[in-house]
Amino acid sequence: MSVLIKGGRVVTAADDYVADIFIEGERISLIGESLDVAADKVIDATGKYVLPGAVDPHTHLEMPWRGKTTVDDFYHGHVAAAFGGTTTHIDFCIQAKGQTFGEALATWHGKREGKALIDNGFHIIVTDLSENGGTLEELATLPEEHGVSSYKLFMSYNDSLRVSDEDLFRVMQVAAKTGACVMVHAENGDVIEVLMADAIAAGNTAPVYHALTRPPELEGEATNRAIQLAHVAGAPLYVVHVSCAESLAPIVIAREKGWDVWGETCTQYFFVDTSFLERLENFEAANYVYTPPPRPKHNQEILWNAVRTNALQAISTDHCAYTLEQKALGKDDFRQIPNGAVGMENRLQLIHHFGVREGRITLNRMVELLSTSPAKLFGMYPKKGTIVVGGDADIVVFDPEKHATISAKTHHSAADINIFEGTEVQGSPEIVLLRGNVIVEGGELHAKPGSGQFVHRARFRSELRPAALATA
Ligand SMILES: [Zn+2]
Repeated sequence: MSVLIKGGRVVTAADDYVADIFIEGERISLIGESLDVAADKVIDATGKYVLPGAVDPHTHLEMPWRGKTTVDDFYHGHVAAAFGGTTTHIDFCIQAKGQTFGEALATWHGKREGKALIDNGFHIIVTDLSENGGTLEELATLPEEHGVSSYKLFMSYNDSLRVSDEDLFRVMQVAAKTGACVMVHAENGDVIEVLMADAIAAGNTAPVYHALTRPPELEGEATNRAIQLAHVAGAPLYVVHVSCAESLAPIVIAREKGWDVWGETCTQYFFVDTSFLERLENFEAANYVYTPPPRPKHNQEILWNAVRTNALQAISTDHCAYTLEQKALGKDDFRQIPNGAVGMENRLQLIHHFGVREGRITLNRMVELLSTSPAKLFGMYPKKGTIVVGGDADIVVFDPEKHATISAKTHHSAADINIFEGTEVQGSPEIVLLRGNVIVEGGELHAKPGSGQFVHRARFRSELRPAALATA
């Protein structure tokens, strides 16, 4: 199978030019002006952007949470992602208490098998380093043996996922040796427990207390603590879902010092603010309960500025889909509202419209934030994350003129909630290719379940990565 994409405006993190792209099999084999080659399929991309497939470094498909499971499994999540122009994501594999890391990874591989439509890798979430759980020795083998080169740890959720500073630090020491990256969910878990107990004791059970018991200072404090610990251990650190000025500040300071510290924010933090948690009609506020919570509105321009100036390097989604029925479990107690919201389908549309069209970031920077940087940081570049000869032909033919209205009625997630409901955007993916195969065209899905591949990722440390594309 060969594909010729003709006359599109090819946009990568670095370049912006009109060219033809020739794909043989799964990879790009030729980029040039007016290519005179025969192809099985020809796509006229005149007037369209030709972008590298988007890479989402932070998602939760079929994730168990307090006896519930997120409603997007690898099939539904991948359909939503494909329509949104995302061709690769990295999901979080959670080590259950008493499990080895190998057992946890086997569980998560089982979730994707026969369902995956796009490519994905895994980060490992470390929850149990006790005698019955995983060992540091096993953790050290994951980058090489399992292609899992990032260790994620929680500093909050004391009842389930949180690890002690001691365990956090020991994992950082392992990462320093193995070239893996440490990712932290940075919030002060102990203080949140106190504030939540106080709120409930005072009869404050409404959704807005989810935000009021997790104030920005607690994210700032934990972010700074993680940065200092990672520096002592000599490990690279990636701070997930930075939501506010308080956690951005220590990242900026560390980066100015040249430390190996990186960070992402997520789409929703540009659009949803704390006031959404006061929408009490039909318990709508619960739809915006995710963690870290929506922040006061002034943080939105601060975050736009952070992604523009490279204080933050990526925009992910933290896609974690729940239904209205699941959200209603917290009707009488905000602590019981499942934390999470959708995002995989709309990230590119939203960042294109409100970032690029409204002049906050350039088109090149959009590609860098949504595709190139996540691929580089997590050991998938240049196979993923750019358009280059020898790279995977993961390509989005994007129509910058096409209008769309975001809605749960028309999205492809299994959730019946979309936190961007009613938002109008100009610009949408038209054709999406994964490794040379058209997976979305003309509003139709063309991919078969099971066709998505697992991505065995290289290490975070650049000196430990292969320098060039391996040619098959
Ligand atoms: Zn998450």
